[in-house]
Amino acid sequence: MSRTSQLCTVCGQGTAMIMGLDLEGKKQHFCRDCYGKTFFGNIGGTGEFPQGKIDPADEGELRFALVTDRKRNVIVFEFGKSVKWFALDKAAATALGTAILERARELDDIH
Ligand SMILES: [Zn+2]
Repeated sequence: MSRTSQLCTVCGQGTAMIMGLDLEGKKQHFCRDCYGKTFFGNIGGTGEFPQGKIDPADEGELRFALVTDRKRNVIVFEFGKSVKWFALDKAAATALGTAILERARELDDIH
């Protein structure tokens, strides 16, 4: 007998990855997409090129979220779409580096 995986209780389609309370305090089993949409709004591509197209393969601005997953003790990047690469200018790279360090400090050390 194979083990069936829990479906997302929000969309009823995605595989549930994260269990938690939604914005109304109701317990849900979220798939990655619904989790991102619920807590981070419009993550994914914006379709805009605020700094111009830096490469022919540039798909434009990407909004993503950086989440501390305490249950798994990892930092998760929620991109909201498939991403091959992303580029950052100095200010954005510095801000992301700082954000990663802040999230890293929230994790437990594992030895
Ligand atoms: Zn879902």
